[in-house]
Amino acid sequence: MGRRLGQHFLHKDSVLHRIAEAACPDTEPLVIEIGAGTGALTRHLRSRAGRVVAIEADPILIGRLSEKFARTANLELVRGDVLETDLSQWGPAVFAGNLPYYITSPILRKVLDLGPLLRRAVFLVQREVALRLVAIPGTRDYGFLTVLARLSSEPEYLFTVPPAAFRPPPKIDSAVVRFTPLAVADRWGIDDPSSFLEFVGQCFRQKRKTIRNNLAGLFGKTLLDGTPEASQRAEQLSVGELAALYRRLRAQG
Ligand code: SAM
Repeated sequence: MGRRLGQHFLHKDSVLHRIAEAACPDTEPLVIEIGAGTGALTRHLRSRAGRVVAIEADPILIGRLSEKFARTANLELVRGDVLETDLSQWGPAVFAGNLPYYITSPILRKVLDLGPLLRRAVFLVQREVALRLVAIPGTRDYGFLTVLARLSSEPEYLFTVPPAAFRPPPKIDSAVVRFTPLAVADRWGIDDPSSFLEFVGQCFRQKRKTIRNNLAGLFGKTLLDGTPEASQRAEQLSVGELAALYRRLRAQG
């Protein structure tokens, strides 16, 4: 079976139960599962949701899932690449999944970009990625992923999952992260998240360089020299400070 699809299946029932519970502390009308695999998490989610939409790219697994859940009313299986799927088509939903690690960042970006359609997300990711998602400014782990997560949500590190909980075991530890969306009014005054994230990507382009050096090709020298925050490295600025810098440079640039 294709390791290339990031297939490490969770078999530990207690971990599956905790993920489903974190995604649906109360019954949810709709949960969208990303990367349903063999359906182990799907089964737990179904018992906590009115309806589950399970997306899976591997046609062999979709075949097995259809057999396994043949007599299940509240489950819709979607065969396809999550990155090519319109995630807004089902309306407001909770998202959950043991993510294929090779595409964690684009999946997070897509889900966190759903705005008010995102009720909550609970994802199993590499522990190293989880630490980056919840990092604080000025630390080694703080970077683009942290800003991506904090721009529209409050990310929480829930618990660590060791390799032995999976078949086949991955080489690294994993961790469960919950994203609780921020109210629109709390999203740092950013009304164009895509271009703000482009800007943040540029600020972190070379982490050891100052923001001024990283942005030199995009904004004039005079403007950057007249902006004190630009003399710092991006990792020293909180999301609110990066947002304020972005608004200021955009207004004057
Ligand atoms: N949820 C299952 C579990 O915990 O046992 C499987 C998790 S496994 C880490 C990731 C799953 O995502 C695999 O079943 C894989 O086939 C699927 N997958 C990989 N790339 C995908 C993509 N682009 N779109 C949808 N599913 C994908």
